Amino acid sequence: MKDIVSINPATDEELARFPQHTPGQIEALLTRAAAAQAAWARTPLAERLQVLRQVAQVLRERKQALGLTITLEMGKPLAEAVGEVEKCAWNFEHYAEAAPGYLQDQVIASNATDSRVVYDPVGLVLAVMPWNYPFWQVMRAVAPVLAGGNGLVLKHASNVPQCALALQQLMQDAGVPDGLFTTVLVDAAGVPALIADPRVAAVTFTGSTPAGRQIAGLAAQALKKQVLELGGSDPFIVLADADVAAAAAVAVKARFQNTGQSCIAAKRFIVQDAVADAFVHHFCEGVRALVVGDPQAAGTTQGSMAKRSLRDELHQQVLASVREGAQLLLGGQPVEGPGAFYQPAVLDHVQPQMTVAREETFGPAAAILRVPDVASAIRVANDTPFGLGAALWSQDLEQAQALVHQLQAGAVFINGMVASDPRLPFGGSKASGYGRELGALGLYEFMQIKTVWRGPSRA
Ligand code: NAP
Repeated sequence: MKDIVSINPATDEELARFPQHTPGQIEALLTRAAAAQAAWARTPLAERLQVLRQVAQVLRERKQALGLTITLEMGKPLAEAVGEVEKCAWNFEHYAEAAPGYLQDQVIASNATDSRVVYDPVGLVLAVMPWNYPFWQVMRAVAPVLAGGNGLVLKHASNVPQCALALQQLMQDAGVPDGLFTTVLVDAAGVPALIADPRVAAVTFTGSTPAGRQIAGLAAQALKKQVLELGGSDPFIVLADADVAAAAAVAVKARFQNTGQSCIAAKRFIVQDAVADAFVHHFCEGVRALVVGDPQAAGTTQGSMAKRSLRDELHQQVLASVREGAQLLLGGQPVEGPGAFYQPAVLDHVQPQMTVAREETFGPAAAILRVPDVASAIRVANDTPFGLGAALWSQDLEQAQALVHQLQAGAVFINGMVASDPRLPFGGSKASGYGRELGALGLYEFMQIKTVWRGPSRA
Protein backbone atom coordinates (compact mmCIF):
# COMPACT_ATOMS: atom_id res chain seq x y z
CA MET A 1 0.00 0.00 0.00
CA LYS A 2 1.29 3.43 -0.94
CA ASP A 3 2.11 5.93 1.82
CA ILE A 4 -0.18 8.89 2.31
CA VAL A 5 1.94 11.89 1.44
CA SER A 6 1.51 15.49 2.53
CA ILE A 7 2.83 17.98 -0.05
CA ASN A 8 2.80 21.76 0.13
CA PRO A 9 1.12 22.66 -3.19
CA ALA A 10 2.54 26.20 -3.08
CA THR A 11 6.16 24.95 -3.09
CA ASP A 12 5.91 21.28 -4.23
CA GLU A 13 7.83 20.36 -1.07
CA GLU A 14 7.05 17.06 0.68
CA LEU A 15 6.04 17.83 4.26
CA ALA A 16 5.41 14.38 5.73
CA ARG A 17 4.41 10.84 4.81
CA PHE A 18 2.35 8.29 6.70
CA PRO A 19 1.93 4.56 6.20
CA GLN A 20 -1.69 3.54 5.68
CA HIS A 21 -3.42 1.77 8.53
CA THR A 22 -3.31 -2.01 8.20
CA PRO A 23 -6.50 -4.13 8.35
CA GLY A 24 -5.47 -5.16 11.90
CA GLN A 25 -5.12 -1.53 13.00
CA ILE A 26 -8.46 -0.62 11.42
CA GLU A 27 -10.11 -3.51 13.24
CA ALA A 28 -8.79 -2.21 16.56
CA LEU A 29 -9.81 1.38 15.75
CA LEU A 30 -13.38 0.38 14.83
CA THR A 31 -13.76 -1.80 17.93
CA ARG A 32 -12.69 1.11 20.11
CA ALA A 33 -14.92 3.54 18.20
CA ALA A 34 -17.98 1.32 18.59
CA ALA A 35 -17.39 0.96 22.34
CA ALA A 36 -16.91 4.72 22.71
CA GLN A 37 -20.13 5.40 20.80
CA ALA A 38 -22.14 2.99 22.94
CA ALA A 39 -21.01 4.80 26.10
CA TRP A 40 -21.55 8.23 24.50
CA ALA A 41 -25.13 7.35 23.55
CA ARG A 42 -25.83 6.76 27.27
CA THR A 43 -24.18 10.06 28.29
CA PRO A 44 -26.75 12.74 29.20
CA LEU A 45 -27.27 15.35 26.48
CA ALA A 46 -26.11 18.23 28.69
CA GLU A 47 -22.76 16.48 29.26
CA ARG A 48 -22.35 15.77 25.57
CA LEU A 49 -23.02 19.39 24.71
CA GLN A 50 -20.47 20.55 27.25
CA VAL A 51 -17.86 18.58 25.30
CA LEU A 52 -19.01 20.31 22.10
CA ARG A 53 -18.40 23.68 23.78
CA GLN A 54 -14.90 22.55 24.74
CA VAL A 55 -14.18 21.61 21.13
CA ALA A 56 -15.25 25.10 20.05
CA GLN A 57 -12.96 26.64 22.65
CA VAL A 58 -9.92 24.61 21.56
CA LEU A 59 -10.60 25.52 17.92
CA ARG A 60 -10.69 29.20 18.79
CA GLU A 61 -7.56 29.03 20.94
CA ARG A 62 -5.56 27.25 18.22
CA LYS A 63 -7.00 28.87 15.13
CA GLN A 64 -3.67 30.32 13.93
CA ALA A 65 -1.73 27.06 14.20
CA LEU A 66 -4.58 24.99 12.76
CA GLY A 67 -5.05 27.53 9.96
CA LEU A 68 -1.37 27.17 9.08
CA THR A 69 -1.74 23.38 8.86
CA ILE A 70 -4.59 23.88 6.37
CA THR A 71 -2.64 26.41 4.30
CA LEU A 72 0.49 24.26 4.19
CA GLU A 73 -1.39 21.21 2.94
CA MET A 74 -3.83 22.69 0.43
CA GLY A 75 -2.61 26.18 -0.40
CA LYS A 76 -5.47 28.53 0.53
CA PRO A 77 -4.62 31.99 1.92
CA LEU A 78 -3.88 31.84 5.63
CA ALA A 79 -6.57 34.37 6.54
CA GLU A 80 -9.18 32.17 4.85
CA ALA A 81 -7.82 29.09 6.64
CA VAL A 82 -8.08 30.80 10.02
CA GLY A 83 -11.63 31.88 9.13
CA GLU A 84 -12.43 28.26 8.33
CA VAL A 85 -11.31 27.15 11.80
CA GLU A 86 -13.44 29.88 13.39
CA LYS A 87 -16.45 28.71 11.40
CA CYS A 88 -15.97 25.19 12.75
CA ALA A 89 -16.06 26.63 16.27
CA TRP A 90 -19.29 28.46 15.42
CA ASN A 91 -20.82 25.20 14.23
CA PHE A 92 -19.99 23.45 17.51
CA GLU A 93 -21.37 26.41 19.47
CA HIS A 94 -24.52 26.35 17.39
CA TYR A 95 -25.26 22.69 18.07
CA ALA A 96 -24.31 23.04 21.75
CA GLU A 97 -27.02 25.72 21.95
CA ALA A 98 -29.66 24.36 19.60
CA ALA A 99 -29.49 20.57 20.03
CA PRO A 100 -31.82 20.40 23.05
CA GLY A 101 -34.54 22.03 20.95
CA TYR A 102 -33.80 19.95 17.85
CA LEU A 103 -33.86 16.71 19.86
CA GLN A 104 -37.01 17.40 21.84
CA ASP A 105 -39.72 14.78 21.45
CA GLN A 106 -42.31 15.78 18.84
CA VAL A 107 -45.75 15.12 20.28
CA ILE A 108 -48.29 14.29 17.53
CA ALA A 109 -52.02 13.92 18.16
CA SER A 110 -53.51 10.54 17.13
CA ASN A 111 -55.82 7.85 18.51
CA ALA A 112 -53.18 7.10 21.19
CA THR A 113 -53.20 8.34 24.75
CA ASP A 114 -49.85 9.79 23.81
CA SER A 115 -47.98 9.53 20.54
CA ARG A 116 -44.68 11.13 19.72
CA VAL A 117 -41.48 10.97 17.74
CA VAL A 118 -38.24 10.49 19.67
CA TYR A 119 -34.68 10.63 18.35
CA ASP A 120 -32.09 7.94 19.05
CA PRO A 121 -28.51 7.82 17.72
CA VAL A 122 -27.83 5.50 14.80
CA GLY A 123 -24.30 4.56 15.91
CA LEU A 124 -21.04 5.08 14.02
CA VAL A 125 -21.10 7.34 10.98
CA LEU A 126 -18.36 6.99 8.37
CA ALA A 127 -17.34 10.35 6.87
CA VAL A 128 -15.44 10.29 3.57
CA MET A 129 -14.25 13.85 3.06
CA PRO A 130 -12.54 16.15 0.53
CA TRP A 131 -9.55 18.46 0.90
CA ASN A 132 -11.02 21.80 -0.21
CA TYR A 133 -12.21 22.87 3.25
CA PRO A 134 -10.28 20.20 5.16
CA PHE A 135 -11.58 21.32 8.56
CA TRP A 136 -15.02 22.68 7.74
CA GLN A 137 -16.25 19.74 5.64
CA VAL A 138 -15.38 17.38 8.48
CA MET A 139 -16.51 19.50 11.39
CA ARG A 140 -19.85 20.49 9.86
CA ALA A 141 -20.67 16.77 9.99
CA VAL A 142 -19.03 16.02 13.33
CA ALA A 143 -20.88 18.56 15.51
CA PRO A 144 -24.43 17.26 14.85
CA VAL A 145 -23.25 13.65 14.81
CA LEU A 146 -21.73 13.97 18.28
CA ALA A 147 -24.59 16.10 19.64
CA GLY A 148 -26.98 13.32 18.65
CA GLY A 149 -25.03 10.64 20.53
CA ASN A 150 -23.30 9.11 17.50
CA GLY A 151 -19.60 8.54 16.83
CA LEU A 152 -17.64 9.39 13.68
CA VAL A 153 -14.96 7.59 11.69
CA LEU A 154 -13.09 9.91 9.33
CA LYS A 155 -11.50 8.88 6.06
CA HIS A 156 -10.05 12.16 4.89
CA ALA A 157 -8.69 13.02 1.44
CA SER A 158 -5.22 11.58 0.90
CA ASN A 159 -3.56 14.98 0.35
CA VAL A 160 -4.52 16.35 3.79
CA PRO A 161 -3.33 13.72 6.33
CA GLN A 162 -1.88 16.34 8.66
CA CYS A 163 -5.27 18.06 8.84
CA ALA A 164 -6.88 14.69 9.61
CA LEU A 165 -4.43 14.04 12.42
CA ALA A 166 -4.72 17.60 13.75
CA LEU A 167 -8.50 17.13 13.95
CA GLN A 168 -8.01 13.89 15.87
CA GLN A 169 -5.58 15.58 18.28
CA LEU A 170 -7.76 18.60 18.98
CA MET A 171 -10.80 16.42 19.64
CA GLN A 172 -8.77 14.43 22.13
CA ASP A 173 -7.42 17.57 23.80
CA ALA A 174 -10.95 19.00 24.05
CA GLY A 175 -12.12 15.99 26.04
CA VAL A 176 -13.95 14.02 23.34
CA PRO A 177 -13.91 10.43 24.65
CA ASP A 178 -11.16 8.26 23.26
CA GLY A 179 -12.22 6.65 19.98
CA LEU A 180 -15.47 8.59 19.53
CA PHE A 181 -13.81 10.55 16.72
CA THR A 182 -11.43 8.26 14.85
CA THR A 183 -9.22 9.07 11.89
CA VAL A 184 -8.45 6.12 9.65
CA LEU A 185 -5.49 6.67 7.33
CA VAL A 186 -6.41 4.88 4.11
CA ASP A 187 -6.75 5.90 0.49
CA ALA A 188 -9.91 5.53 -1.61
CA ALA A 189 -9.30 1.79 -2.04
CA GLY A 190 -9.88 1.35 1.71
CA VAL A 191 -13.40 2.82 1.62
CA PRO A 192 -15.45 -0.23 0.51
CA ALA A 193 -14.32 -2.30 3.53
CA LEU A 194 -15.22 0.56 5.88
CA ILE A 195 -18.70 0.93 4.38
CA ALA A 196 -19.27 -2.83 4.61
CA ASP A 197 -18.12 -3.10 8.23
CA PRO A 198 -21.10 -3.98 10.44
CA ARG A 199 -20.01 -1.44 13.07
CA VAL A 200 -20.54 1.39 10.58
CA ALA A 201 -24.22 2.37 10.58
CA ALA A 202 -24.31 5.17 8.00
CA VAL A 203 -22.17 7.13 5.57
CA THR A 204 -21.73 10.81 4.86
CA PHE A 205 -19.75 11.65 1.75
CA THR A 206 -18.57 15.00 0.42
CA GLY A 207 -16.67 14.99 -2.83
CA SER A 208 -16.96 14.56 -6.55
CA THR A 209 -20.03 13.20 -8.29
CA PRO A 210 -18.25 10.11 -9.78
CA ALA A 211 -16.94 9.05 -6.35
CA GLY A 212 -20.38 9.76 -4.87
CA ARG A 213 -21.98 7.35 -7.33
CA GLN A 214 -19.60 4.58 -6.24
CA ILE A 215 -20.09 5.25 -2.54
CA ALA A 216 -23.86 5.41 -2.95
CA GLY A 217 -23.76 1.99 -4.64
CA LEU A 218 -21.70 0.45 -1.86
CA ALA A 219 -23.86 1.94 0.88
CA ALA A 220 -27.01 0.83 -0.92
CA GLN A 221 -25.71 -2.75 -1.13
CA ALA A 222 -25.12 -2.67 2.63
CA LEU A 223 -28.51 -0.95 3.18
CA LYS A 224 -26.88 1.92 5.02
CA LYS A 225 -28.22 5.44 5.01
CA GLN A 226 -26.09 7.96 3.15
CA VAL A 227 -25.84 11.70 2.72
CA LEU A 228 -24.13 12.81 -0.48
CA GLU A 229 -22.71 16.33 -0.90
CA LEU A 230 -21.33 16.32 -4.43
CA GLY A 231 -20.16 18.65 -7.14
CA GLY A 232 -21.81 21.81 -8.39
CA SER A 233 -21.87 24.33 -11.19
CA ASP A 234 -23.82 27.04 -9.45
CA PRO A 235 -25.45 29.78 -11.52
CA PHE A 236 -25.10 33.42 -10.45
CA ILE A 237 -27.93 35.19 -12.24
CA VAL A 238 -27.86 38.94 -12.78
CA LEU A 239 -31.15 40.32 -14.10
CA ALA A 240 -31.47 43.64 -15.89
CA ASP A 241 -32.85 45.43 -12.82
CA ALA A 242 -30.05 44.28 -10.48
CA ASP A 243 -27.60 46.52 -8.67
CA VAL A 244 -24.87 45.54 -11.11
CA ALA A 245 -21.87 47.01 -9.28
CA ALA A 246 -22.86 45.29 -6.04
CA ALA A 247 -23.56 42.02 -7.85
CA ALA A 248 -20.16 42.11 -9.59
CA ALA A 249 -18.29 42.79 -6.34
CA VAL A 250 -19.97 39.82 -4.63
CA ALA A 251 -19.51 37.73 -7.77
CA VAL A 252 -15.72 38.05 -7.55
CA LYS A 253 -15.76 36.67 -4.02
CA ALA A 254 -18.32 34.00 -4.92
CA ARG A 255 -16.09 32.66 -7.69
CA PHE A 256 -12.51 33.16 -6.43
CA GLN A 257 -12.78 32.62 -2.68
CA ASN A 258 -10.86 29.49 -1.64
CA THR A 259 -8.96 29.83 -4.94
CA GLY A 260 -12.17 28.85 -6.70
CA GLN A 261 -12.20 25.37 -5.16
CA SER A 262 -15.62 25.33 -3.58
CA CYS A 263 -18.64 23.20 -4.39
CA ILE A 264 -20.92 26.21 -3.91
CA ALA A 265 -18.69 28.68 -5.73
CA ALA A 266 -20.59 30.59 -8.40
CA LYS A 267 -19.29 29.02 -11.61
CA ARG A 268 -21.63 30.28 -14.33
CA PHE A 269 -22.47 34.00 -14.39
CA ILE A 270 -25.72 34.32 -16.31
CA VAL A 271 -26.24 37.96 -17.11
CA GLN A 272 -29.03 39.71 -18.99
CA ASP A 273 -27.76 41.45 -22.15
CA ALA A 274 -28.95 44.88 -20.98
CA VAL A 275 -26.42 44.92 -18.13
CA ALA A 276 -23.81 42.45 -19.39
CA ASP A 277 -21.19 45.02 -20.47
CA ALA A 278 -21.46 46.88 -17.16
CA PHE A 279 -21.26 43.61 -15.20
CA VAL A 280 -18.19 42.45 -17.14
CA HIS A 281 -16.50 45.83 -16.57
CA HIS A 282 -16.99 45.75 -12.78
CA PHE A 283 -16.26 42.02 -12.52
CA CYS A 284 -12.96 42.31 -14.40
CA GLU A 285 -11.95 45.26 -12.22
CA GLY A 286 -12.47 43.06 -9.17
CA VAL A 287 -10.57 40.15 -10.67
CA ARG A 288 -7.62 42.37 -11.62
CA ALA A 289 -7.39 43.40 -7.95
CA LEU A 290 -6.91 39.79 -6.77
CA VAL A 291 -3.43 39.14 -5.41
CA VAL A 292 -2.11 35.73 -6.44
CA GLY A 293 0.85 34.46 -4.47
CA ASP A 294 2.31 32.99 -1.31
CA PRO A 295 -0.71 31.85 0.70
CA GLN A 296 1.06 32.65 3.95
CA ALA A 297 1.72 36.29 2.99
CA ALA A 298 -0.62 38.95 4.32
CA GLY A 299 -2.57 40.50 1.47
CA THR A 300 -2.67 37.38 -0.72
CA THR A 301 -6.25 36.79 -1.87
CA GLN A 302 -5.63 33.80 -4.10
CA GLY A 303 -3.26 31.05 -3.07
CA SER A 304 -2.09 27.96 -4.81
CA MET A 305 -4.51 25.37 -6.10
CA ALA A 306 -4.39 22.18 -4.05
CA LYS A 307 -2.66 19.95 -6.62
CA ARG A 308 -0.86 20.45 -9.92
CA SER A 309 -3.13 17.86 -11.54
CA LEU A 310 -6.18 19.99 -10.68
CA ARG A 311 -4.56 23.07 -12.19
CA ASP A 312 -3.82 21.15 -15.37
CA GLU A 313 -7.42 19.93 -15.52
CA LEU A 314 -8.78 23.46 -15.10
CA HIS A 315 -6.39 24.80 -17.73
CA GLN A 316 -7.57 22.16 -20.21
CA GLN A 317 -11.19 23.21 -19.55
CA VAL A 318 -10.29 26.86 -20.22
CA LEU A 319 -8.35 26.02 -23.41
CA ALA A 320 -11.18 23.79 -24.68
CA SER A 321 -13.72 26.57 -24.12
CA VAL A 322 -11.58 29.10 -25.99
CA ARG A 323 -11.34 26.64 -28.89
CA GLU A 324 -15.14 26.33 -28.73
CA GLY A 325 -15.48 30.11 -29.15
CA ALA A 326 -15.39 31.64 -25.65
CA GLN A 327 -13.53 34.92 -25.28
CA LEU A 328 -10.74 34.90 -22.68
CA LEU A 329 -10.75 38.36 -21.12
CA LEU A 330 -8.25 37.85 -18.30
CA GLY A 331 -5.70 35.33 -16.98
CA GLY A 332 -6.15 31.69 -17.83
CA GLN A 333 -2.46 30.80 -17.58
CA PRO A 334 -0.58 28.53 -15.17
CA VAL A 335 2.04 30.57 -13.28
CA GLU A 336 5.53 29.33 -14.11
CA GLY A 337 7.75 28.00 -11.33
CA PRO A 338 7.03 25.91 -8.25
CA GLY A 339 3.51 25.50 -6.94
CA ALA A 340 0.09 25.05 -8.51
CA PHE A 341 -0.70 28.74 -9.08
CA TYR A 342 -3.11 29.83 -11.80
CA GLN A 343 -3.90 33.30 -13.13
CA PRO A 344 -7.62 33.85 -12.45
CA ALA A 345 -9.47 33.43 -15.72
CA VAL A 346 -12.54 35.30 -16.99
CA LEU A 347 -14.29 33.87 -20.05
CA ASP A 348 -17.00 35.93 -21.75
CA HIS A 349 -19.56 34.94 -24.42
CA VAL A 350 -19.68 31.39 -23.08
CA GLN A 351 -22.44 29.23 -24.57
CA PRO A 352 -24.24 26.52 -22.57
CA GLN A 353 -22.68 23.70 -24.62
CA MET A 354 -19.08 24.85 -24.00
CA THR A 355 -16.82 22.93 -21.63
CA VAL A 356 -16.71 25.48 -18.79
CA ALA A 357 -20.52 25.64 -18.76
CA ARG A 358 -21.12 21.89 -19.04
CA GLU A 359 -18.51 20.64 -16.56
CA GLU A 360 -17.75 21.65 -13.00
CA THR A 361 -14.75 24.02 -12.94
CA PHE A 362 -13.02 23.48 -9.61
CA GLY A 363 -10.63 26.43 -9.59
CA PRO A 364 -10.23 30.11 -10.46
CA ALA A 365 -12.08 30.40 -13.78
CA ALA A 366 -15.32 32.30 -14.35
CA ALA A 367 -17.72 31.68 -17.24
CA ILE A 368 -20.01 34.55 -18.30
CA LEU A 369 -23.11 33.60 -20.30
CA ARG A 370 -25.16 36.43 -21.78
CA VAL A 371 -28.91 35.92 -22.09
CA PRO A 372 -31.68 38.09 -23.61
CA ASP A 373 -34.41 37.73 -20.97
CA VAL A 374 -35.49 36.30 -17.61
CA ALA A 375 -36.91 33.09 -19.06
CA SER A 376 -33.61 32.34 -20.85
CA ALA A 377 -31.70 33.04 -17.63
CA ILE A 378 -33.70 30.40 -15.76
CA ARG A 379 -33.48 27.91 -18.61
CA VAL A 380 -29.69 28.28 -18.88
CA ALA A 381 -29.30 28.14 -15.08
CA ASN A 382 -31.11 24.78 -14.98
CA ASP A 383 -29.29 23.43 -18.05
CA THR A 384 -26.74 21.45 -16.03
CA PRO A 385 -26.61 18.02 -14.40
CA PHE A 386 -25.91 19.78 -11.08
CA GLY A 387 -28.29 21.43 -8.62
CA LEU A 388 -26.41 22.65 -5.56
CA GLY A 389 -26.90 26.40 -5.02
CA ALA A 390 -28.03 29.40 -7.08
CA ALA A 391 -27.66 33.14 -6.62
CA LEU A 392 -30.24 35.50 -8.07
CA TRP A 393 -29.76 39.27 -8.33
CA SER A 394 -32.76 41.51 -8.92
CA GLN A 395 -34.24 44.61 -7.28
CA ASP A 396 -37.73 43.24 -7.87
CA LEU A 397 -38.11 41.00 -4.85
CA GLU A 398 -41.57 39.82 -5.82
CA GLN A 399 -40.21 38.57 -9.14
CA ALA A 400 -37.20 37.02 -7.41
CA GLN A 401 -39.40 35.15 -4.92
CA ALA A 402 -41.47 33.75 -7.76
CA LEU A 403 -38.36 32.61 -9.65
CA VAL A 404 -37.03 30.75 -6.59
CA HIS A 405 -39.40 27.87 -7.35
CA GLN A 406 -38.22 27.61 -10.94
CA LEU A 407 -34.57 27.11 -10.02
CA GLN A 408 -33.38 23.52 -9.61
CA ALA A 409 -31.14 23.91 -6.58
CA GLY A 410 -30.81 23.00 -2.92
CA ALA A 411 -30.53 26.68 -2.00
CA VAL A 412 -31.32 30.02 -3.63
CA PHE A 413 -29.66 33.17 -2.32
CA ILE A 414 -31.33 36.41 -3.45
CA ASN A 415 -28.98 39.40 -3.77
CA GLY A 416 -26.13 37.54 -2.08
CA MET A 417 -23.73 34.68 -2.61
CA VAL A 418 -24.43 31.07 -1.71
CA ALA A 419 -22.79 30.21 1.60
CA SER A 420 -23.23 27.66 4.36
CA ASP A 421 -24.49 28.65 7.80
CA PRO A 422 -24.76 26.25 10.78
CA ARG A 423 -28.38 27.32 11.32
CA LEU A 424 -29.57 26.66 7.76
CA PRO A 425 -29.90 23.30 6.01
CA PHE A 426 -27.33 22.74 3.27
CA GLY A 427 -27.35 20.25 0.41
CA GLY A 428 -28.04 19.61 -3.22
CA SER A 429 -30.41 18.23 -5.81
CA LYS A 430 -29.83 16.33 -9.10
CA ALA A 431 -26.17 15.24 -9.52
CA SER A 432 -25.15 17.45 -6.58
CA GLY A 433 -26.40 14.80 -4.17
CA TYR A 434 -29.10 14.30 -1.59
CA GLY A 435 -29.67 14.65 2.11
CA ARG A 436 -28.93 17.72 4.17
CA GLU A 437 -26.25 18.93 6.52
CA LEU A 438 -26.44 21.68 9.15
CA GLY A 439 -29.46 23.00 11.02
CA ALA A 440 -32.06 20.66 12.46
CA LEU A 441 -32.39 18.67 9.23
CA GLY A 442 -28.66 17.93 9.24
CA LEU A 443 -28.94 16.51 12.74
CA TYR A 444 -31.94 14.31 11.89
CA GLU A 445 -30.12 12.63 8.97
CA PHE A 446 -28.20 10.46 11.42
CA MET A 447 -30.84 10.01 14.10
CA GLN A 448 -33.05 6.97 14.38
CA ILE A 449 -36.49 8.54 14.12
CA LYS A 450 -38.67 6.44 16.39
CA THR A 451 -42.44 6.61 16.70
CA VAL A 452 -43.78 5.87 20.17
CA TRP A 453 -47.50 5.07 20.58
CA ARG A 454 -49.15 4.53 23.96
CA GLY A 455 -52.59 2.95 24.38
CA PRO A 456 -55.17 3.72 27.04
CA SER A 457 -53.99 3.17 30.61
CA ARG A 458 -55.91 0.75 32.84
CA ALA A 459 -56.59 3.47 35.41
P1 NAP B 1 -13.02 13.24 -4.59
O1 NAP B 1 -11.90 12.94 -5.49
O2 NAP B 1 -14.33 12.67 -4.86
O3 NAP B 1 -12.52 12.81 -3.12
C1 NAP B 1 -13.29 12.99 -1.97
C2 NAP B 1 -13.04 11.88 -0.99
O4 NAP B 1 -13.49 10.65 -1.54
C3 NAP B 1 -11.56 11.66 -0.67
O5 NAP B 1 -11.45 11.26 0.66
C4 NAP B 1 -11.18 10.54 -1.63
O6 NAP B 1 -10.10 9.77 -1.16
C5 NAP B 1 -12.45 9.72 -1.63
N1 NAP B 1 -12.67 8.97 -2.87
C6 NAP B 1 -12.35 9.35 -4.13
N2 NAP B 1 -12.75 8.41 -5.01
C7 NAP B 1 -13.34 7.42 -4.30
C8 NAP B 1 -13.93 6.19 -4.63
N3 NAP B 1 -14.03 5.79 -5.89
N4 NAP B 1 -14.42 5.43 -3.64
C9 NAP B 1 -14.33 5.82 -2.36
N5 NAP B 1 -13.77 6.99 -1.98
C10 NAP B 1 -13.29 7.79 -2.92
O7 NAP B 1 -13.25 14.81 -4.47
P2 NAP B 1 -12.18 15.94 -4.20
O8 NAP B 1 -11.40 16.18 -5.42
O9 NAP B 1 -11.42 15.66 -2.94
O10 NAP B 1 -13.12 17.20 -3.89
C11 NAP B 1 -13.64 17.99 -4.89
C12 NAP B 1 -15.05 17.63 -5.21
O11 NAP B 1 -15.85 17.66 -4.03
C13 NAP B 1 -15.70 18.63 -6.14
O12 NAP B 1 -16.50 17.96 -7.11
C14 NAP B 1 -16.59 19.45 -5.21
O13 NAP B 1 -17.65 20.09 -5.85
C15 NAP B 1 -17.03 18.43 -4.23
N6 NAP B 1 -17.46 19.06 -2.98
C16 NAP B 1 -18.79 19.08 -2.66
C17 NAP B 1 -19.22 19.71 -1.50
C18 NAP B 1 -20.68 19.77 -1.13
O14 NAP B 1 -20.97 20.09 0.01
N7 NAP B 1 -21.60 19.48 -2.02
C19 NAP B 1 -18.28 20.32 -0.67
C20 NAP B 1 -16.95 20.28 -1.03
C21 NAP B 1 -16.54 19.64 -2.18
P3 NAP B 1 -8.59 9.97 -1.75
O15 NAP B 1 -8.21 11.38 -1.49
O16 NAP B 1 -7.82 8.98 -0.96
O17 NAP B 1 -8.66 9.66 -3.21
